[in-house]
Amino acid sequence: MEKTTDLAYRKLIKKLVYYYNLKVLPSKYAVDMWCDELDRMRIPSEQIEEIFNHAKQAPGFPKNLPMAIRDALQAHLSSAGRQYTRDPPIHCDVNCDAGILFVKKYNLDHDCHYRYAFRCKHCTRSEATGIPAAYLDQLEHDGYHPYQPGE
Ligand SMILES: [Zn+2]
Repeated sequence: MEKTTDLAYRKLIKKLVYYYNLKVLPSKYAVDMWCDELDRMRIPSEQIEEIFNHAKQAPGFPKNLPMAIRDALQAHLSSAGRQYTRDPPIHCDVNCDAGILFVKKYNLDHDCHYRYAFRCKHCTRSEATGIPAAYLDQLEHDGYHPYQPGE
């Protein structure tokens, strides 16, 4: 998921202004404020087009643009069957590192610890590809020990 750039927000606002054929253009100050507000919503860039499509269904150019965009985003996400949360509170019982478990295992042949990374199956929040998923207790049962990356 890519973060939307300031430029993309400005483009979205411009498209709405054009779409509603505004006679009085929003001030530069207003546009700056809106961009700051939108930036805080962290809209994924791939959703901008959908947001525009929702926003232009309103009867007129929104009085409160950030609010209208937020509504459009929510409408879009709920129709896509997803929940929009500003800062998804992610709690993981095993305190993984953003969905990744860093573990090491002693290797008898080489007399050293080998380091591994697994996607945490407790919270399943990592979408990293190419690494296996595991439960920490299962890993510990198999002789792995957690370590802090950078240790
Ligand atoms: Zn986790």
